[in-house]
Amino acid sequence: MEPYLRALKNNRLKITPRRKAVINLFVNYRMRMGPYDVYGKLKKKLPILGLPTVYRILDELTKAGILIQSLSEDRQLRYALCTLPDAHHHHFTCRKCSKIEEVEFCNFKGVTRFIEKKLNAKVEAHQLQIEGLCSECK
Ligand SMILES: [Zn+2]
Ligand SMILES: [Zn+2]
Ligand SMILES: [Zn+2]
Repeated sequence: MEPYLRALKNNRLKITPRRKAVINLFVNYRMRMGPYDVYGKLKKKLPILGLPTVYRILDELTKAGILIQSLSEDRQLRYALCTLPDAHHHHFTCRKCSKIEEVEFCNFKGVTRFIEKKLNAKVEAHQLQIEGLCSECK
């Protein structure tokens, strides 16, 4: 739980009972869930939590690097817990089974230098979308 609370703070998000409850749910279930799953599992514990709030919290936690957003095979939004929320890294998503794996490697420096030189700009952040077939699907 600690790294997730740190990630909240680093992204200027207050540690609220609702945000904590959503993170806790993912920590305990260790599976991909959609907004309805989260809502269904939490509404007994937190009756004040509405579906729009769940959508908003899932979005906030994704921007904070705590959750990873993906689409399921039937094009539904799904979220999974990132296990390295406070370190820069990337994710590999399997196109077939939608499994998400941590990629603890980044070699973006050359690209950054190229962009900064070519555009005379300053690169501040980047995101990579890495897709393919996992070891079981390839
Ligand atoms: Zn991750
Ligand atoms: Zn796969
Ligand atoms: Zn990177």
